[in-house]
Amino acid sequence: MVVERITEIKNYLTKSKLKEANYVVNPYSGCPCKCLYCYASYMVNFTRHHETWGNFIDVKYTPKKINISKIRDKAVFFGNVTEPYNEFEEKYRASRKLLEQLSLSGAYISLFTKSDMVVQDLELLKTFEHLKVVMSICTLDENLKSKLELNTSSIASRIEALRELKKNGIKTVVFISPIFPFITDYQGIIEETRDFVDEYWFDQLVLRYNFKKPVLNFICENFPIYSEVYEKIYTEKSFDYFAELSQEIDSYCIDNGLNFKNFIK
Ligand code: SF4
Repeated sequence: MVVERITEIKNYLTKSKLKEANYVVNPYSGCPCKCLYCYASYMVNFTRHHETWGNFIDVKYTPKKINISKIRDKAVFFGNVTEPYNEFEEKYRASRKLLEQLSLSGAYISLFTKSDMVVQDLELLKTFEHLKVVMSICTLDENLKSKLELNTSSIASRIEALRELKKNGIKTVVFISPIFPFITDYQGIIEETRDFVDEYWFDQLVLRYNFKKPVLNFICENFPIYSEVYEKIYTEKSFDYFAELSQEIDSYCIDNGLNFKNFIK
């Protein structure tokens, strides 16, 4: 069971340490999607929860309006450490309410999601001056997706959502992330989506904190042939695989005339 709580905060806007964003906005703290590889799970340390990551959700609230004049022309990541369209969005509409405030801000918003539920706010999204919906996909294999991400939309429905967004004039990005060495077929994802996607972003699987072991165990059980090479990458810290892949991705995108951002480093 996921523990729900409404948490009063001081401000929705947080200054970002990321190179690509000036501010981040996360309507929720916690995330019930339960991705095995969740890079955001360290956020549990900034809460007072004794529940583990994935088993609580705090709906952030403040009566103070976002100071939108502060973010005009600034890059804002929305939902970078939670899923803004998680199962509790139906009930609380926290993402919807924040997007309503941001719609006339003139900020460059990147709305991160893994959910087809984003389409329910299509009319609102159309009112933004600069907005991209960044849909994360790490595999086309629904069976593998269900094992890696317990509570996220199917890949087919994410792809359908991208098609719908694009049809309605919304800028679409597929974030091919996290790239699982030898498993994520980035070219296959591009081929499947390029008719209705404006941009591709790429990032590698990073393993740290307490999710490193479960992911390595998962690979060992499900992809034993890659077990050794994952050990090399993630235990011996060899960067050769990703260095080569990064170059390959750059060449592939340039040769195919794709707009892209490669965050592999
Ligand atoms: S959707 Fe994002 S924040 Fe939520 S569990 Fe998955 S990786 Fe973590």
